[in-house]
Amino acid sequence: MKRIQVLPLGNLPARTLAELCGGLAEVFGGRCEILRAEPAPARAFNVSRQQYSSTEILAGLAGREIPKASRLVAVTPSDLYVPVLTFVFGEAQLEGPCAVVSTCRLRQEFYGLPADAGLEGRRLLKEAVHELGHTFGLAHCENYECVMAPSHAVEWIDLKSSTFCAVCRRGLLC
Ligand SMILES: [Zn+2]
Ligand SMILES: [Zn+2]
Repeated sequence: MKRIQVLPLGNLPARTLAELCGGLAEVFGGRCEILRAEPAPARAFNVSRQQYSSTEILAGLAGREIPKASRLVAVTPSDLYVPVLTFVFGEAQLEGPCAVVSTCRLRQEFYGLPADAGLEGRRLLKEAVHELGHTFGLAHCENYECVMAPSHAVEWIDLKSSTFCAVCRRGLLC
């Protein structure tokens, strides 16, 4: 059985976290627990970009005790980047155990639109499942409805489902 830990980095609504955890438990057919919130690590903050380095956050998570066969997904309201890109929705250690996702650009307000908690919750679940999929050994998928399809804009996230296609599901490491 897959065990997933959700680590809030910064302030996130309890309901957002609870819904994410419920969704992850369902998709992976395992258990999910929410860890105590921590501040996003200051050393991952890039002052000139006003964003956090997702790679630095993952490096900081590498020292944690993570139970055997478990995966950890950090969730932060802060905007994330990797040096070659303007932003990323998230990043994962391939065959990890750790991943990180940001809610910043999943929010409708980011694009000047009215808030839509339901839509944002679905986006967050998809991005968390996607990054956790990488930690379970999956690469990107060409099936645009598969959660492992790459997303470079929210419109792409909205196109895909929150679950794995049959090919990816077979490829999930135990
Ligand atoms: Zn990916
Ligand atoms: Zn797939």
